[in-house]
Amino acid sequence: MADQSIQAAVQDLHQESATQQAGAGTRTQMGTNSGTAPSLSSGVALDWINRDIHEKDVMKRAAEQAMLYVNLSKTPINPDMLRFATKDEAAKAGVMPFFRIGQHVRVGVVDASVPEAQALLNRWKGEGFEIELNLCTAESITDAVKIYDAQQMVMQKDIVTNIEESRVSAFEKEIQVLADLKSRVETVTSEEALNLLEVGAIKTGASDMHFEPEEKVARVRFRIDGELYKIFEIDKKIFANVINQLKYKCKMKMNVTNVPQDGRYSFMINERKVDVRVSSIPTQYGESFVCRLLDSGKSFLSFEELGFQGAYLAKMEKLPTLSHGMILVTGPTGSGKTTTLYSLLSRFNTPEAKVITLEDPIEYHIEGISQSQIDESHGYNFADGLRTILRQDPDTVMIGEIRDLETAQVAAQAALTGHVMLSTLHTNGAIESVSRIVNIGLPEFIVAPSLHTIIAQRLVRKLCVCAEKRATSEEERAKFTAQLETIRGVVPDVSVAVPAEMLVAKGCAVCSNTGYRGRLVIVEMITLDTDLQEMILAKASTAKLYEAARKKGMITMQEDGVLKVLQGLTTMDEVFQATNLAV
Ligand SMILES: [Zn+2]
Repeated sequence: MADQSIQAAVQDLHQESATQQAGAGTRTQMGTNSGTAPSLSSGVALDWINRDIHEKDVMKRAAEQAMLYVNLSKTPINPDMLRFATKDEAAKAGVMPFFRIGQHVRVGVVDASVPEAQALLNRWKGEGFEIELNLCTAESITDAVKIYDAQQMVMQKDIVTNIEESRVSAFEKEIQVLADLKSRVETVTSEEALNLLEVGAIKTGASDMHFEPEEKVARVRFRIDGELYKIFEIDKKIFANVINQLKYKCKMKMNVTNVPQDGRYSFMINERKVDVRVSSIPTQYGESFVCRLLDSGKSFLSFEELGFQGAYLAKMEKLPTLSHGMILVTGPTGSGKTTTLYSLLSRFNTPEAKVITLEDPIEYHIEGISQSQIDESHGYNFADGLRTILRQDPDTVMIGEIRDLETAQVAAQAALTGHVMLSTLHTNGAIESVSRIVNIGLPEFIVAPSLHTIIAQRLVRKLCVCAEKRATSEEERAKFTAQLETIRGVVPDVSVAVPAEMLVAKGCAVCSNTGYRGRLVIVEMITLDTDLQEMILAKASTAKLYEAARKKGMITMQEDGVLKVLQGLTTMDEVFQATNLAV
């Protein structure tokens, strides 16, 4: 049996099983990961007939011992179970929790008498759980561990809450005054309450959030610039909900309150990842929590996480070795160019390198980098700031945006005299950026030698794990095949093919029924080599430059989008919408 059909079979079994057990209430949430099963397909060649015989043997043995029996391959495992044991612990002990209501946990077990199994079972009993044993085959455990792996991947991704930009600005409006947080926190779900606090902490530049229960109320404090500030006091009941949400997110044991615990989680804010290290200590009035927000250069998304692939990813990875030249990230507002720029900047940020930025405003603080804020009202503009900065002998300089000739001139001059310059430009495409910068007033003979790489990008929404498969229509097949042919004419080694089934957005609780979760970039990128530099010097038209860039392997943003659609990462709707966004 081919991998694909095993995968399909496992999924079918899941669906079948989920239907059979729909009466079990909480179980309807499980096994909704259709479309995420690639890790189930890792070369498993199951002998279904032998397996069936073995399952029947164990079923019989269970009946003889008056025990329950479970086939874990046919039973969706609630992601909640992943907190009970590590995959290795479970595999080694031949034990797998698969269902829980309150403190009652159903566990599949191969042989409850082996010491590893006993140790795990005793541990859970010690944590106050009531264990119900279900006999299962060793193959069942192996399968469950695989499913567990797949889910853990999904879990790890999902646990990174993405606070969308629109929500952030809404939050920001709501929390002009920090005390306002209190009334908001009291009226929203615990998940939203925690998000509000996260945004509040980031907005105020807090390094830590403290949650401290007192006798009658609980106190929330932020550490800002080294000082602890009381933000508000809340009702202990609301506090308990927020804390449960926090413990869930950072994977602490929910039922343990009397010993210190450590955990961590991440959240996304405006496409930037913030890692949170959480520690708890038991106090007289309940558990007290400190959350350290780690917002350093290290936590910027990798180029791959941002959505760069193939030749473009390789180009990006090479950029931080550059010794001089200008790198421009271009796109309209909301195209994620700042995120890419910061991610790139953080890669230039090594202990030996001096990195300085000039921003308006400073959006993210990065450890190890001197960041300065321009102040037009006091005559400190990009051009002046840049001149000042260049006197400090930096290796890499980032300026927020090239808006005028003066800034462009200083930036180009810096790029020509041994500095790496990073900046953004407000243009549609990579090639158009050349004429844009010439139109600002920078002559071709300066543009040609100073400009190194141009990255033009847009953001598309990523399909949620709930996406549904639908057979590819003949029309789609023809359209995508033609597009792939064009792309292969530019980049011959593209390995993506038109799949038999395409993913369509569906919607679930996780993605607030939008069908999408998170975002990724679609890109076109060009590095100027001598040919292109000479063409710029010769004042070649945008059309001619485009033609030459195609020969050098530049696929367009839309083509990059098509490749991502064919990989099931996003949809054509998204790609069209994003690429029609004009400056
Ligand atoms: Zn969804």
